[in-house]
Amino acid sequence: MREMPHIPLPAAPGADEHVSVALLNSAVSLPGGRRVDELADPEEATAWLVGHHLVPERTTLLAYCQHQLVGLRDDLRTVFGAHVAGERPPQRALDAINRALTSAPNALLLDHEPGRGLYRASAHPVTQLVEHAMARIAEDAAALLTGDRAAQVARCEASPCDRFLVRTHGRRHWCSTRCGDRVRAARAYARKQSGAPATARAGRDRDDNAVDRGAGRSSAPAPAPCG
Ligand SMILES: [Zn+2]
Repeated sequence: MREMPHIPLPAAPGADEHVSVALLNSAVSLPGGRRVDELADPEEATAWLVGHHLVPERTTLLAYCQHQLVGLRDDLRTVFGAHVAGERPPQRALDAINRALTSAPNALLLDHEPGRGLYRASAHPVTQLVEHAMARIAEDAAALLTGDRAAQVARCEASPCDRFLVRTHGRRHWCSTRCGDRVRAARAYARKQSGAPATARAGRDRDDNAVDRGAGRSSAPAPAPCG
């Protein structure tokens, strides 16, 4: 089996609970101009959906389905980005998410097998399986963006990282300790270059540090979805 792309960061806060955040973060820009995309082709997109328990193991996506999923990710990133910026999202992106919400029936069908008894399953062709998965992702996004934690949705401030997170702490600015460390190192270097003494900024660094380290202790590293 060929090796799947692997994002070298733990899951951002909120991505384990919200599959929509996991999808937003399935592509990330890394330092050095590197970009990792876990949905880069149909095989990788299949592995991502299977890894997130959104389609059965034996599913095989076609390129059409992969493009649909990548399109949903683009539209969700547009709407989440507007939400974080306090702006109105483009109607085109809202329409696309609404199509994903309504294009698939949410109900799992009831069936019966000797020895197994009654069970529920989506017995659909692959296209409908993917539409079903996209409906669940869109539903998760709509609930998150209008729910109690909507104000905690944020974007990592450690450029070039472009991952989203759901803040576990009001002062959290980074998706991961690694991103926080990178920004702090850059600030320290800039201060050294300018010869400026430590300022209130350094105080903020310490706060961030405490927040990030604390979060790091309390949450187990997430497994690589495409490993
Ligand atoms: Zn980050």
